[in-house]
Amino acid sequence: MENAKNEYTLFKPLPDGLALVKRIIDGETFIAEPFESPVPEEAELRARGAAEAAANILNHENLVSLNTEIINIPVAWKNRPEDEYWPSHIILWDYCDAGTLENLLENPPVPRSPTGFLPESLVWHVALGMLRALQWLHEGIRDVYGVEAETGPARKNFYCCRRVRGTTPPEKDWMPVLHRNIKPGNIYLQHPKGIEMYGAVKLGDYGSCIVTGKVRENRRTPLVAMMVENSAFQYPGWDPMANEVEAPLEVLRENLFAWKENPNSRDIVDRPYTAGSELYALGEILYRMMRGRKLPHAERCILCGCDHIYRNETKKDHVPCPHSCFAAVNVDEELGDKLADYSAGLRALVRHLLRVNRLELVSASGILDMHWKGYESWTRNTPDGRTYRDIFNDIWVRRMNYSRKMGLRPSQALRLFTPGENPETVFKDAVEAAKRDADAGVVVV
Ligand SMILES: [Zn+2]
Ligand SMILES: [Zn+2]
Repeated sequence: MENAKNEYTLFKPLPDGLALVKRIIDGETFIAEPFESPVPEEAELRARGAAEAAANILNHENLVSLNTEIINIPVAWKNRPEDEYWPSHIILWDYCDAGTLENLLENPPVPRSPTGFLPESLVWHVALGMLRALQWLHEGIRDVYGVEAETGPARKNFYCCRRVRGTTPPEKDWMPVLHRNIKPGNIYLQHPKGIEMYGAVKLGDYGSCIVTGKVRENRRTPLVAMMVENSAFQYPGWDPMANEVEAPLEVLRENLFAWKENPNSRDIVDRPYTAGSELYALGEILYRMMRGRKLPHAERCILCGCDHIYRNETKKDHVPCPHSCFAAVNVDEELGDKLADYSAGLRALVRHLLRVNRLELVSASGILDMHWKGYESWTRNTPDGRTYRDIFNDIWVRRMNYSRKMGLRPSQALRLFTPGENPETVFKDAVEAAKRDADAGVVVV
């Protein structure tokens, strides 16, 4: 921290006492948040490295990350005489310069139609980014991005590559984190860098997060019963964010079993909140991106007592709501044929997410594994998918550019990333080809 004063400059005050700062070395912008710790216990925690622990958990490309902590950089503001100096402790957060998904949904770039709303590419981008974020928070697993040369006609396209998705082994002794406030207002977007069509999508706002105090057997995400305050019982925007009930694990388990027998046998505050609840929340968001309107609440309506969501298998028992509350939605029907602008793979993913509410034995990594094929199929078999550029294409192009810099021609660079090719042979061939060209007086541009 010795040179902290020289590494960043503060350049723009924001509301709520925040400010934008720039990292001098690369011009990257961050949000600076003053962090005062008047409580001795907190100061002690920080001294023991709590900030670093939090920064480790939040160090993921799909989370609004806590970057570092700067200590003792008093900065004078010309136009803010009332607080002449910034507090001595400042936390830096990723700056998401393209706003939130909520802003985008409120001011959409495209009109809504009966068959679809936001482009499929954007829905996939948010879906994959948020699944990766949840996979990390819940399970301590990261996606890794491998690239290989395409085969067939697509091979000629400089931007095309075969995506090879992998994952890291789960972090050792990971303590699962439930975010508990997954909504479009907490999903942040950045402007694209490189050749990607969209910038990074990041889950932020950790005010409702819960971290388990100990590592759980079976790597399961903690089960939390929710307490919903009365003030929150308001549509629209009913907020599942709440305080957990302090209950022993056995009571939570008992409630889980009772809820599975009959969902309405337990008051909403006693129903389990799990990894499945977070995946369901993502499903609701994706549905809204595709349909242009919010899905009614997942369970029996708190306002009128009716069920506003049903499925093919519950269709015959569905009683239409006689109150003027919500129009009922058959999720299977809408995500079946109605939203025809989207590929079957994307609709299957969202249908899956909308079936896992409150389930305990469901994981983001399992869902990613299962539906990755749907994404690949969309990128290969649709015109939009073929022109879409994601993080894999960006990595690919960087590698191809690097290979060119190293003196390889595009055809040689392609071989370098083709499975089964030996890089040493590729370089040997390239050197020999260059020698032949030189002997023949050929100038390679
Ligand atoms: Zn209702
Ligand atoms: Zn009703």
